Amino acid sequence: MTTYNNFTIDTDSDGITLITWDMPEKNMNVFTMEVMDELDAIVDQVASDEAIKGAVITSGKSAFSGGADITMLNGMYDRFEAARAQDEKAAVRELFDNAGKLSWIFRKLETCGKPFVSAINGTCMGGATELSLACHARLGTDAEGWKMALPEVKIGIFPGAGGTVRVPRMVPDMQSALLMLMQGSNLKAQKAKAMKLIDEIVPAKKLVAEAKKLLTSGSVDPVKEWDKKGYKGPRVYSAAGSQLWPAVGANYRKNTHDNYPGAKAIVKVAYESLLLPFDTALTVEQRYFTEVLQTNEAKHMVRSLFVSMQELNKGARRPADVPQKKLKKVGILGAGFMGAGIAYVTAKAGMQVVLIDRDQEAADKGKAHCEDLEKKAIQKGRSTPEKAEKVLSLITATPDYDELKDVDLVIEAVFEDRDVKAEVTAKAEAVMKPSAIYASNTSTLPITGLAKASKRPKNFIGIHFFSPVDRMMLTEIIMGKRTGDKALAVAMDFVMAIKKTPIVVNDTRGFYVNRCVLQYISEAYNMLIEGVPAAMVENAATMGGMPVGPLALNDEIALDLSLKIFNATVADLGESALDPDQFALVKKLVEQEGRHGRKNGKGFYEYPAKPAKKHLWPELKSLYPQQNADSIDFAELQQRFWVLQALEAAKTIEEGVVTDVREADVGSILGYGFAPFTGGTISYIDGMGTTAFVALCNKLAKKHGKRFRPTKLLKQMAASDEKFYQRFNPYADPEGEAKAA
Ligand code: NAD
Repeated sequence: MTTYNNFTIDTDSDGITLITWDMPEKNMNVFTMEVMDELDAIVDQVASDEAIKGAVITSGKSAFSGGADITMLNGMYDRFEAARAQDEKAAVRELFDNAGKLSWIFRKLETCGKPFVSAINGTCMGGATELSLACHARLGTDAEGWKMALPEVKIGIFPGAGGTVRVPRMVPDMQSALLMLMQGSNLKAQKAKAMKLIDEIVPAKKLVAEAKKLLTSGSVDPVKEWDKKGYKGPRVYSAAGSQLWPAVGANYRKNTHDNYPGAKAIVKVAYESLLLPFDTALTVEQRYFTEVLQTNEAKHMVRSLFVSMQELNKGARRPADVPQKKLKKVGILGAGFMGAGIAYVTAKAGMQVVLIDRDQEAADKGKAHCEDLEKKAIQKGRSTPEKAEKVLSLITATPDYDELKDVDLVIEAVFEDRDVKAEVTAKAEAVMKPSAIYASNTSTLPITGLAKASKRPKNFIGIHFFSPVDRMMLTEIIMGKRTGDKALAVAMDFVMAIKKTPIVVNDTRGFYVNRCVLQYISEAYNMLIEGVPAAMVENAATMGGMPVGPLALNDEIALDLSLKIFNATVADLGESALDPDQFALVKKLVEQEGRHGRKNGKGFYEYPAKPAKKHLWPELKSLYPQQNADSIDFAELQQRFWVLQALEAAKTIEEGVVTDVREADVGSILGYGFAPFTGGTISYIDGMGTTAFVALCNKLAKKHGKRFRPTKLLKQMAASDEKFYQRFNPYADPEGEAKAA
């Protein structure tokens, strides 16, 4: 009998073959070239062996499979680029063949004449879901955490191995079918069953036995409905179809502003495939898949939102020679909005927390915030009363600094005030073990300055969280001038333990994310001052892929905080460091109009009582003479937002504040939602090429001012159209460190 590297095959006395997918040296099964070839051979074997009556596919690991090996896809891009330079047509043909490989293996399995049952024992993602859909029956289990999904759209592609053709034919309600494909969301077993994507939910322990029973009972038809004569699938040209499909197109535009070719392809394939015979439909899907793969959006989203993110999550930037630290106890100073959020995510990750504030009442308030978060999690089915109790029991709220004597790490989140921060640093260090690390969550004060209050500046670092802490996935780790490698390693170990993505940033005003965000908001001020209607400012941004308009975002951050930052900048750097018109705008809003943002219900927006929705403050119109909206170049407004943020990101790289392009890209998307379809600030530049970017900067600078001027490095790179991912190739040396500018 043939043996395989990634599968074991075992045929029982009833003639049922159990195919167990269990890749050696991997925690998770994924589709690699070798897996595809082996699966192909296994299908041939099952089909041709007369002794085999049917087959069960399951996994030897706790999860079923994570789907395609996306890093393989990333490698395929490099080969495609190289081949395209030689012979474009041949390169695209090869891409087309590769893009369809998995799909046609699944189709062979589906039409081989023998019944296959997918015994889905746990997490089943992407290509593995498509494999299961090609099988003739599917079983899920009651195991905790069981889920299936087609999440490809989230990384700029779409389910191109039959998923977009089969789901609309299998799910009785077309709207849920499309929603599942367009959102890429996880389905729990009950939902998957209700959508008819699995047939039954069985006890986890009995999964394989139940799958075999299905086959021996003869109830699994090896011929799919759509392969039978007279099959009538869901009709596009029908009363229901004519109601549904126009709305599908409209919804696609509403939700994506036509920025996501992967999502668009789902709509097209689903629609067109329903008008075609099954095999032709699969070919159409393969064509769209080949097309989408060639877009910048797919290439850059795969790179940033999958490959780079995974690498950063695994600690690509962690100093390798410092031993891993499993943190047991963490101290948090300041039980306010941020401190309580940090305490919560820390306890959620199983660590003990000492949550300190000025008095017991203030500390208890922080813990009460954690209780509220758990209550909400229970309501949403994400936690249980038992789990909540366990999490909360890990948090000790107290004003007593002595409790810090055995912590591994302290995170300070007290008021944004140098003196207060210096005072708590001294108090904490007086008790902490000398080896423990001290981190500040400051958002505006440079770490090097704060570290002056420390007796152990080597152990002093910044861990900058984003609000709300439980939902935002990014943290910036800030290196002060004297911060040591051990502090960086411990900070990384902590951030990885709470399952957030760390980026490492050298100390500078605004660090990385806030520097880019400030450009976003500041350009919106400029537009208002020019007389661009506020609604147009907001729409240009959101239609350009930003999740929240700059004025709405400023309201969330608070306008009085913006004024505070302006005032601090004047105090530190003088009046010339800021734009007087912008300063006047914010001053007027805060000091004359009492508009502080969402928190007092008055900002750029008005916040009427629910259920009424927020709307732009009508008086904004009267602040500046308004331009005629029809005469404004809308596309240029979008470019101004993208370019200024990307330019700022490029500056942080040139200055050595961010040293790894992956971090700039991932940080911009996770930190504040920079148009994800671009792949991030730096991929936005690489996507058009540095030559085109510099030309665009020059054009905007001529029209709108010197803030758009390209930097020296950009001009240098533009001379040969050098890309950031070439010049700062993160894989250039074995340490994974990018070259300095
Ligand atoms: P907050 O006002 O909600 O909380 C500060 C807490 O610190 C209060 O509970 C206060 O009682 C406590 N505190 C003050 N002096 C103290 C002392 N001497 N000892 C112990 N506790 C003391 O503020 P916040 O929004 O949680 O911000 C805290 C820090 O986090 C600031 O440095 C801020 O810049 C930073 N930060 C805030 C955000 C945000 O969105 N709010 C985001 C990132 C970082």
